[in-house]
Amino acid sequence: MARILVIEDNPANLELMTYLLVASGHAVEAATTGESGIELAVQAPPDLILLDIQLPDISGFGVLALLRNEARVARVPIVAVTANAMVGDRDQALAVGFDGYFSKPIEPTSFVPAIAGFLAPEQQGHAPRSPWADGA
Ligand code: MN
Repeated sequence: MARILVIEDNPANLELMTYLLVASGHAVEAATTGESGIELAVQAPPDLILLDIQLPDISGFGVLALLRNEARVARVPIVAVTANAMVGDRDQALAVGFDGYFSKPIEPTSFVPAIAGFLAPEQQGHAPRSPWADGA
């Protein structure tokens, strides 16, 4: 189980990522602006941050730069999530210091295994399962 902070202003995307992460055994905190995301991250540094690039206040690049200056958050992996799935975006994201990159729309089957790659072995969740499937 990992504590994952999702900073994303798109309600559908936030809901999908939250659903997949919770179904995989993780605890999710959500912020819909850059400012509130930074506040949450600094107050209680999570194990992983998923950061939308297009936010209503500060861009994801700005949030990344601010977080990297916070000693408590400096080592937390930060993964970019963006709709700008254009050639070069991944390279640009990695060049400015993101640890990884997801392009929207989020692909449920590849999202969960990709998340595991950013977590320590003891933090890894399980394959997604429905909260209604008991004893399966
Ligand atoms: Mn957005």
